[in-house]
Amino acid sequence: MCDLNFSGLHEECGVFGIYDKTGATDMISATYSALYALQHRGQESCGMALNVDGVISGHRDLGLVNEVFTPTVLAGLPQGAKMATGHVRYATSGSRVRANAQPMVVRHCKGSMALCHNGNLVNAPALRHDLEMNGAIFHGSSDTEVISYVLTTNRLKAPSIEAAVSLTMEQIKGAYSLVIMSPTKLLAARDPNGFRPLCIGELPDGSGWAFASESCALDAVGATFVRDVKPGEIVVADRNGLRSLEDHCGTAPHTICVFEYVYFARPDSVLEGTCVHEARKQAGRFLAQEHPVEADVVIGAPDSGLDAALGYAEESGIPYGVGFIKNKYIGRTFIQGSQKQRESSVRLKLNVIASTVRGKRVVLVDDSVVRGTTSTRTIKLLRDAGAKEVHYRISAPPFTHPCYFGTDIPDQKLLVATGRTVEQINEIIGADTLGYLSVEHVQQLAIHSHCGFCTGCFTGKYPIPEPAQLMEDPFSVPLSQTNKSKSL
Ligand code: SF4
Repeated sequence: MCDLNFSGLHEECGVFGIYDKTGATDMISATYSALYALQHRGQESCGMALNVDGVISGHRDLGLVNEVFTPTVLAGLPQGAKMATGHVRYATSGSRVRANAQPMVVRHCKGSMALCHNGNLVNAPALRHDLEMNGAIFHGSSDTEVISYVLTTNRLKAPSIEAAVSLTMEQIKGAYSLVIMSPTKLLAARDPNGFRPLCIGELPDGSGWAFASESCALDAVGATFVRDVKPGEIVVADRNGLRSLEDHCGTAPHTICVFEYVYFARPDSVLEGTCVHEARKQAGRFLAQEHPVEADVVIGAPDSGLDAALGYAEESGIPYGVGFIKNKYIGRTFIQGSQKQRESSVRLKLNVIASTVRGKRVVLVDDSVVRGTTSTRTIKLLRDAGAKEVHYRISAPPFTHPCYFGTDIPDQKLLVATGRTVEQINEIIGADTLGYLSVEHVQQLAIHSHCGFCTGCFTGKYPIPEPAQLMEDPFSVPLSQTNKSKSL
């Protein structure tokens, strides 16, 4: 129930890019729509960059898409672009300051560039240190700025922007799905492990191309899904069409973040050939096989537990019910208020349909337990509404380790599962029984995806070595003073 709680997980970013050689697409409107579709991947800042005849400009700021792109801001953006990029961000690397908002626009004698990044690098601190020792000056604290510096440096010696991206990929390590806009080209690049998703769409009538973190953003702009960007691939769209550079493909095992299927991605998106909704249903089916229980109704924790609950009900034969109604109109300001407000906002944000659960043995399916505080409150809500028993089923294994690839998992000592058995966790959250999906099954839920998965936060085994050091944040302030910490 990550999205409801104040101890939850967050995805770092969503990226988007679009190129229409005919100029028929309204780039501002298309990018706005795509960012809206990707809003679930980041709510702290957003931005778009527009390319009008090779001149790149745009707007970025802290806030949701509709807060940043007000009618006045939209009206002030340059018209006539044939190319654009957009970004939504949740800060995991680098703090919540405007300097870290993206797209990051770089102006250089070799040409301007706008860069959008999803993921975290494991060697950003070392790269940043080297760059600083050679005179680089950074404005923000994100590893995206490191990538843009390395890329710009490589642009000096490379014959083309795509060659510079390829050189950059030899230096940067970790998770990155990139969309880069030069004066004449739009590029998409994905790290050799393919940690974060990135896909290609074709605009109507073959007029151009779009790149997006998730296929739901392609749908939002009327583009037809073509395929995923391959891990390690660089895709270039320009007036000559679409071409692919595969120098870095196959240099690492394909290990997409399995939590994209469990929680991050929108259910209507298709990642690596598997519809996220179907993957979540499959997780529910596996859960029913692993942790059966006699019960009267199966309900899901909104939103990402709903699909898994359907799968559990299907497999177990226990009727599916709607147990919660989520109020979608509670603003972040309220959530970020005092502790008392935060606690009462759980009730305001989530209410039980008592007739579904009263006097019944309830199976509650959820996507994850992070600190356990929200789970405790949610189970109590069900009991207060008259549920006779609450059997808590989680469509992922227990979180026990940090993520270095773009997911904001709290410190290990704050994770309720660290150092505890399932029984001990259940003593804290107060369900009648508790069951997690196994690591074995979480790797099988994307039934059509012929790739491997990162399961590092569940197993402590990472596809690439952990970072030697983490990025120091010059903007960091005591946790109690940040909006992020207030929402935890
Ligand atoms: S460590 Fe966990 S959250 Fe991070 S990429 Fe791997 S599976 Fe995803």
